[in-house]
Amino acid sequence: MTPSDLTFDRNHIWHPYTSMTDPLPCYPIVSAQGTQLQLDDGRKLIDGMSSWWAAIHGYNHPRLNQAMHAQIEQMSHVMFGGITHPAAVSLCRKLIAMTAEKLECVFLADSGSVAVEVSMKMALQYWQARGEKRQQFLTLRRGYHGDTFAAMSVCDPTNSMHSLYQGYLPSHHFAAAPQCRFGEEWDENDADDFERLIAEHHLSLAAVILEPVVQGAGGMRFYHPHYLQRVRELCDRYDVLLIADEIATGFGRTGKLFACEHAGIAPDILCVGKALTGGTMTLSATLTTRAVADTISNGAAGCFMHGPTFMGNPLACAVATESLTILEEGNWQQQVSAIEQQLRAALLPLRAHAAVADARVLGAIGVIECHRAVNMAAIQHYFVENGVWIRPFGKLIYLMPPYIITPRELQQLTDTIRDALEHPRLFQSS
Ligand code: PMP
Repeated sequence: MTPSDLTFDRNHIWHPYTSMTDPLPCYPIVSAQGTQLQLDDGRKLIDGMSSWWAAIHGYNHPRLNQAMHAQIEQMSHVMFGGITHPAAVSLCRKLIAMTAEKLECVFLADSGSVAVEVSMKMALQYWQARGEKRQQFLTLRRGYHGDTFAAMSVCDPTNSMHSLYQGYLPSHHFAAAPQCRFGEEWDENDADDFERLIAEHHLSLAAVILEPVVQGAGGMRFYHPHYLQRVRELCDRYDVLLIADEIATGFGRTGKLFACEHAGIAPDILCVGKALTGGTMTLSATLTTRAVADTISNGAAGCFMHGPTFMGNPLACAVATESLTILEEGNWQQQVSAIEQQLRAALLPLRAHAAVADARVLGAIGVIECHRAVNMAAIQHYFVENGVWIRPFGKLIYLMPPYIITPRELQQLTDTIRDALEHPRLFQSS
């Protein structure tokens, strides 16, 4: 890319969560192969992010490419209203087979946030069809569910962008974030606040929505699966739907195919996205039970009121089907557990480091929580200079590499994080 391309980008193109007047530098990537991103000057960066949980099989994967090429030859897109096609049918068959048994009906949409919108609309329409006015949601503090309006309304009310939009967003109920950590002893009182809120408000609750086991963008926290079991029991007891947002956790990242499996529970509505297409195309799915689907369909509207233009996009469905086929072959389990072991050995000892508040690992996710927030521009530059692509936020430096990463590449990622901790200039001063 030419300097003028970069100037144009800086002056005209918005990047995620950035200023248009004082944007942080952007690094020009011209290709990506396997676990590596290539800068326009030829340097290669080992990818520690899987492009935000998505590129689980690595980049430019021959089988994913082949699936897209084959589909392009047939059709890249065709409307889904009144039409169906083999790519959508194959994908939905696989999704239904690999998720909890009770989830039988699939709604395909464009992105994770839209899957969340769809899940919330399903819950609202379900109760409307049952003749009950239930229009509120119960969720957990420190949660994150996306950037569209309904999704924002169930993100953490203080640590997310939510507070900026107060007044525009409907107000829901927020239970204290789970404190009991994954792998530690369960504290019977951990879900007390949740229990109090569901007991008090269940008659106005359409659903509980949460990220199972891993709270991602709200703090990269791993909580005890018993918490999730308790939530499931309470949803059953009070007859409230449970929506599991597995957009980040789905497809093996936590060591189970879906994070709900850590707790042995099934939600009534499940949202998936991100890794669904192996990180190649934007696609999400919201799955639900026959009972929820039937109730919605027998309601006053007679249908579910959502239908995006690019619903069931054949190209995205075809590549998603291939990505799920790769997962079905099963190597991911061994890959994720090897990554987990290596991350534990490399990162957990850093708990003793003066700059580190906590280190935690679950599946192919490793997190270093620092005492001080990073200096984003400085640390990003440092990482790039050291041949790795790691994008921290706030006090969190974290890794979620493609499952195919080699031990040596992973070591380069963890060594670079360890070395970065030695440079106070890479962190904010207070
Ligand atoms: N839910 C969770 C748990 C997520 O991590 C994200 C994305 N970070 C979303 C929803 C929103 O997905 P998208 O960015 O594809 O809209």
